Amino acid sequence: MALTRRAALFGAGAAVGVAGSRWMGAANPSLDGVAIVAPAGGETTLNDASLLSETPIFKHIIVKDPPGDALIATLRAELRAAEAEDRPVCIGAARHSMGGQAIPRDGHAITFDTPSILVEGETYRVQAGTRWHQVITALDPLGLSPKVMQSNADFGVASTFSVGAHGWPMPYGPMGSTVRSIQMLLADGSLVTASRSENADLFAAAMGGYGLIGLITELEVEAVPNQLLEPTFQTMPTADFAAAFTAIADGSTPMAYGRLNIDREGFFDDAMLVTYRPVAGDIPPASGSGFLSKASRAIFRAQPGNEWIKRRRWGIETGIGAMLAGKSSRSSLMNEPVITLDDRDSTRTDILHEYFVAPDRFADFAAAAKAIIPGSYQELLNITLRYVAQDPTALLSYAPDGPRIASVLLFSQEMTARAEADMARMTQELIEAVLAIGGSYYLPYRLHATPDQFRRCYGRSLDFLKVKLQVDPKLRLRNALWDTYLDKGFVY
Ligand SMILES: Cc1cc2nc3c(=O)[nH]c(=O)nc-3n(C[C@H](O)[C@H](O)[C@H](O)COP(=O)(O)OP(=O)(O)OC[C@H]3O[C@@H](n4cnc5c(N)ncnc54)[C@H](O)[C@@H]3O)c2cc1C
Repeated sequence: MALTRRAALFGAGAAVGVAGSRWMGAANPSLDGVAIVAPAGGETTLNDASLLSETPIFKHIIVKDPPGDALIATLRAELRAAEAEDRPVCIGAARHSMGGQAIPRDGHAITFDTPSILVEGETYRVQAGTRWHQVITALDPLGLSPKVMQSNADFGVASTFSVGAHGWPMPYGPMGSTVRSIQMLLADGSLVTASRSENADLFAAAMGGYGLIGLITELEVEAVPNQLLEPTFQTMPTADFAAAFTAIADGSTPMAYGRLNIDREGFFDDAMLVTYRPVAGDIPPASGSGFLSKASRAIFRAQPGNEWIKRRRWGIETGIGAMLAGKSSRSSLMNEPVITLDDRDSTRTDILHEYFVAPDRFADFAAAAKAIIPGSYQELLNITLRYVAQDPTALLSYAPDGPRIASVLLFSQEMTARAEADMARMTQELIEAVLAIGGSYYLPYRLHATPDQFRRCYGRSLDFLKVKLQVDPKLRLRNALWDTYLDKGFVY
C-alpha cells in the first residue's frame, strides 16, 4: 500500500502517543518478587506458541521430502521406530497451537517443512506442511486465492484442516469444508485416501481431528478467484451486531469481520463491522503487512494496564483508521504474518481463546464475557468476530447444528504461575457460560477446559474415539489433547 501523507501523520502521532503513554502509564501488576515461568529450551523438549507447553520429547525430525515415495518411507520408518519402543508420534507444522496439541510427550515429534503446490483449475494439491503464505505465492500469479484460511499466513495447510480452522472469508464454514480429499498414512503404515465419498468416516474424524487419526501427507483444496476489495466500516451497539453480520452472510460479501471495544469503562458495549466488497480495478500482486498493520502494533502493545490507550485505540480504529484503510486484494488481506503484532516481551505471552455461539445468542455471550473477563487478572488486548457456517462433517465440530459467530479473544498473560491459575479459572467460567447458551469453545488453545466440559461441548467425541480405536488401536498417534481429554475417554 502506498504510504500517504495522512498515513505518515497517523504513524508519527501513534509513536509519540505511545512514547508518552509508556512514561506516564501504569506498570501494574508488579512482578517484583514473583517467579517468572520461563521455558528452559533445549533439544530434548518442544514448546509451542504459548511458551507454556514445554514438554520432554524423545526425538524431533524435520521432514523435507517432497510428496511421494521418499516422504512415505520416512514416515513409515518413524512409525516403526516408535512402535518398537511404544512411544507416541505426532506431526506439527508451525506449532502455533497453544496447549501441546502438536507435541507427543516422550515421543517422536515430526515437523513438515516442505512446500509443494500443484494447481489444477480452481483446485490445488498441496503437501501437508506447506504454509499459507507459500500457497498464496503460488496462487496469486494465477489470479487465484485461498477459499478459507486463518487470519495469518504462517500456518500449515494440514494443521488448518486438523484443527478445523476458519478465517474471515464469508460465508464459509471451516477450511475443511473446502478440502476435496486428503492422503493420510495410518498408524499401521497403510496409505489411504479419504474424502466425503471415500473412507468418509476417516475424513470426518481427521477434519478437526488434531493429527490423532493419521499422518496427512497431501490435500486437495479448493481456491477462488482473487478479487480487489474495498472496506466499509460501521459502528453500532453490540446488541445490533449479530443481525448486521448475518445479513451480509448471503454470498454478496467475500470478507468481513467485527470488533468490540475492550476498555473496561465501556467493555463490549460497542461493535464495529468491517465489510470488504469487490470493486473494479487492477489487482496488485499479494503483499505482506501494510504500513497501517505495522503502525498499529505500537498502540496495540501499549494496552496492558492502560485504559487510556485502550479507549484511544477504539477511537482510532473506528475513526481515522477506517478513513485510511484502502483497497486491497483478497490474498493480500490474508497474507499477514503473526510476527507483525509480536509482543517482544519475555515476561508476558499472548494467549488466544475462541468461543462460538448461534447468532441469536451473541448478545448473551457478550453479556457473559462482560460479567467474567473484567473480574479477572488477564489483559484482554483484542476481540475479533467472525462468521462461520455450519459444519456438519467433522466429528469434533464446534458448529455442528448451525452457523456461529466466533469470538476470538487475544489476552496478554504474565508468564507466572499465578497468571496461569487465574487464566484456567477464567477459561472454565467462560466455557460454562458459553455451554449454557448452546455454544462451544475452540480446541487449539490452552487445555484449561475440564474433561467434563470437553465432553459436554463435543457431543460426538465418543464417535471420534470409535474411529480412533479402529485405525489406531495401539494409540500410536498422541499429543497433549489426547492425553488431557481423550485418553480418559475410555471410562466415559
Ligand atoms: C496468531 C494466531 C492467529 C490465529 N488465527 C486463527 C484464525 O483466524 N482462525 C482459526 O481458526 N484459528 C486461528 N488460530 C489457531 C490456528 O489455526 C491453530 O493454532 C493452527 O493449528 C496453527 O497451525 P500450525 O501449523 O501452527 O499447527 P500446529 O500447532 O503445528 O498443529 C496443529 C494440529 O494439527 C496437527 N497436524 C499438523 N500437521 C499435520 C499432518 N500433516 N497430519 C496430521 N495432523 C497434523 C497437529 O498434530 C496438531 O494437532 C490462530 C493462532 C494464532 C497463534
